Amino acid sequence: MMDSQFDKISREDLAGPPTPLMEMARFKAALETTGVTCPRLLVKREDLTQTAGGGNKIRKLEYLLADAKANGADVVITAGAVQSNHVRQTAGAASRLGLDCVGLLFSTVPNESDAYRTSGNVLLDDIFGADIRVFPGDANGREVFDEVIGEMVKAGRKAYVIPVGGSSDVGCLGYVRVFRELMEQTASTGGIDHVVVANGSSGTQAGLAAGASLYAPQVMVHGINVLSPDGEKARETTAALAGATMKRAEPDRAMSLSADEIILHEGFLGEGYGMPTPEMVAALQLVARTEGLLLDPVYSGKAMAGLIALIQVRTFAADETVVFMATGGTPGLFAYADALRSPAG
Ligand SMILES: *Cc1c(COP(=O)(O)O)cnc(C)c1O
Repeated sequence: MMDSQFDKISREDLAGPPTPLMEMARFKAALETTGVTCPRLLVKREDLTQTAGGGNKIRKLEYLLADAKANGADVVITAGAVQSNHVRQTAGAASRLGLDCVGLLFSTVPNESDAYRTSGNVLLDDIFGADIRVFPGDANGREVFDEVIGEMVKAGRKAYVIPVGGSSDVGCLGYVRVFRELMEQTASTGGIDHVVVANGSSGTQAGLAAGASLYAPQVMVHGINVLSPDGEKARETTAALAGATMKRAEPDRAMSLSADEIILHEGFLGEGYGMPTPEMVAALQLVARTEGLLLDPVYSGKAMAGLIALIQVRTFAADETVVFMATGGTPGLFAYADALRSPAG
């Protein structure tokens, strides 16, 4: 597994050593008191990657920013929602590598509170020194990007564009690497059977699915849809990204994946991307109160609500091992304080 074409791809070290893989024993016990049979539950601490406050985008940025530097870039341009974890991690990682960062924030989430507009990731973007520009949710993203790229060219800058969520085939290499890390961490304890992860811009699931296809096809990678109103389209996007990522990771062994090979669970999005659900709040609180572990309100909280529901309908056998991906995003907790705070007593 170590001597592959994949290892020769250039990468900046931003995540640090392998992130911890931890048992969720008290959380599992709490679920079992409701009478359900629970698999062995592990959590992969992708919230602990070692740059910019941590999170899953750092894994993608290891490859994306290596590519940016190889292309001679001095500024990166990327985009997301106002409380984008991706923009915040890009800003911090760019700082670490001596690159400038322009972050384009689109107000796509309805009913933004003051905290949503100014706290959490927005505050951190500012602290990391990013050039942040905010646009209405219905602005034409393509036009906004083109305009900013034009502005950079005029200023004599060499810009590198990172797509929303860092979800290109280059970025997804980061989660091929994480998949291999998981295999190494569990090699002596019998491996794993399932991985459960939020699917937003699809790159994290795509990278994990690519890794599974290449190195351990018996492992099932479950996405929980937290963004797309059209699950079938998200499945197609994820499959296409996984195929392109495999081609980049291991050109001699790549296969293509079809949409029906992507496992994407629906029913946990609620009213839309970034909009809290009661199940998200309950899942986030249960994990915090049994494990001392913080999830986030937009992605991993909804993904955990999905995992709990999957356990309740007996998706997994008691002797199987399920890995939940804690993908970071905790600064968003402060932006969503109104939805998360217990009612005043
Ligand atoms: C971006 C993000 C995800 C989803 O990853 P995608 O690759 O965009 O699907 C999950 N959790 C957190 C906290 C994120 O910031």
